[in-house]
Amino acid sequence: MSTEEKKPSNFIRHIIDADRAANKNDGRVATRFPPEPNGYLHIGHAKSICLNFGIAEDYHGTCNLRFDDTNPHKENVEFVESIQHDVRWLGYEWGDRRYFASDYFEQLHDYAVELIKAGKAYICDLDAEQVREYRGSLTEPGKDSPGRSRSVEENLDLFTRMRAGEFADGAYVLRARIDMASPNMNMRDPTLYRIRHGVVHHQTGEAWCIYPMYDFTHPISDAIEGITHSLCTLEFEDHRPLYDWLLDNISIACHPQQIEFSRLNLQYTVMSKRKLTTLVEEGLVEGWDDPRMPTIAGLRRRGFTPLSIRTFCDRIGITKSDNTVEMGVLESCIRDDLNSTAARRMAVLHPLKLVIENYPEGQVEEIEAANHPQDDSFGTRMIPFSREVYIDRDDFMEVAPNKKFKRLVAGGEVRLRNSYVIRCDEVIKDANGEVIELRCSHDAATLGANPEGRKVKGVIHWVSAAHAVEAEVRLYDRLFTHPSPDADKAGDFREHLNPDSLRTLTGCRLERALGEAGVGERFQFEREGYFCKDGTQTADARPVFNRTVTLRDTWGKIGQEA
Ligand code: ATP
Ligand code: MG
Repeated sequence: MSTEEKKPSNFIRHIIDADRAANKNDGRVATRFPPEPNGYLHIGHAKSICLNFGIAEDYHGTCNLRFDDTNPHKENVEFVESIQHDVRWLGYEWGDRRYFASDYFEQLHDYAVELIKAGKAYICDLDAEQVREYRGSLTEPGKDSPGRSRSVEENLDLFTRMRAGEFADGAYVLRARIDMASPNMNMRDPTLYRIRHGVVHHQTGEAWCIYPMYDFTHPISDAIEGITHSLCTLEFEDHRPLYDWLLDNISIACHPQQIEFSRLNLQYTVMSKRKLTTLVEEGLVEGWDDPRMPTIAGLRRRGFTPLSIRTFCDRIGITKSDNTVEMGVLESCIRDDLNSTAARRMAVLHPLKLVIENYPEGQVEEIEAANHPQDDSFGTRMIPFSREVYIDRDDFMEVAPNKKFKRLVAGGEVRLRNSYVIRCDEVIKDANGEVIELRCSHDAATLGANPEGRKVKGVIHWVSAAHAVEAEVRLYDRLFTHPSPDADKAGDFREHLNPDSLRTLTGCRLERALGEAGVGERFQFEREGYFCKDGTQTADARPVFNRTVTLRDTWGKIGQEA
């Protein structure tokens, strides 16, 4: 991976520095990124990916990609594959260190048997509701399940028969025997195994009908892999005593240290996988890669670069305090990147025809124009100029509304970028009084970027009508109108969907060179913003471009703009 901004330090790196100074784990650093393959990765996962893989890189350690696949009915291979694709796209590589928690089902089962034999786990026959009722509350201790006093022999027999498929879903669960009066509810004899018939696991097929719980699986998987620092989000803080209890009570030598950090929340979007799944399944967006989605696939299709996402993760940092990051922070990262990496092109989004009456019919001039104003290595391209061009409707007004209006007005002059100075001689309107065409004349002595002796107020972009590529351009706005649609008090998050989050412009006219753009290629359309060529076409086979981001921050108060 290329080096970018130097990684800022954080409290987790301080802990690792101290551990290494004390030669803990012989100075070794091993992390993991443990997604559940029940959806596509989102920008919040990117924070965790950059943290785990970034630490492994910087400390010459290792980072495993481990699929936490203990919940087979929500998981599938499509998600496994998309996750791998997205991690690689972000610039990280796990080599041969790809694991599945389901690789460990046999070992996990054996550790469960070990706990049963030690009298530290038992078979409980309460149903889910009774388990809840017996658990007590924050102010009241729980009650013992009748199963708590079963003999080791009976527990072993029942667990064997659970595995053999003798019992229906929900008939029994295996629970840890810890403390029904613990102030930490996670320690009140948590469930370790449950029965699930009739699901085909994407890795293990129908080999199992009992599945381990996440809280049981996770610490043991970490320990099996020799993880040194198990980094997770803050909601697992209360699960840490259970993480430690399990590793202290089975015969495994390795005991990774769990460290929690705050999750990323982004304004005007949702990050919960359940809600993202709802958006996809209910057709409220086009799919997981809809450019409005906060998924890695959506951001990629929108035109974000891997570097911009990694830079974003560095800028937001790693802390223990929950906060919500403004969308403007993410946008300024992609703007900074594309400003130096995207070639410039001209594209007219709201075309208005302009006929240059003193320019010969049928004549075409090829004008050479720089692809980047500050960077010669981008080279140049040829732009055709002819008698009929398109300019943007917003670049013309019959009468200037104020002195700041430096574009074209009736009787006024303007420079067509890289080309001639023109004057508007006549405005043609339709029956409704709408302007449909401008009749102009050019000054043949003014070709070029900035010839001497000719001063005009404004420069506008244009494309030659005969050479233009017709395209659809999609402009995106925030997906929700509420800054925290995820928050409980916001009610049903769907009610906050922004009805104008997608605006589709048809009949846009792009300069000829854009006809050769490859899928995923990014450009600055001068004066309009950054755009990325989409992988789809319109029904009439026109190319589609997605607006990645505007040229300037439109989110208000951010003030990050360079
Ligand atoms: P959800 O709770 O919405 O289903 P999840 O956190 O369970 O999402 P996982 O696939 O289990 O999703 O997450 C994999 C890893 O990514 C975990 O270590 C998790 O802590 C981390 N992660 C998930 N969401 C965020 C986030 N918003 N910010 C930082 N890390 C996150
Ligand atoms: Mg999870």
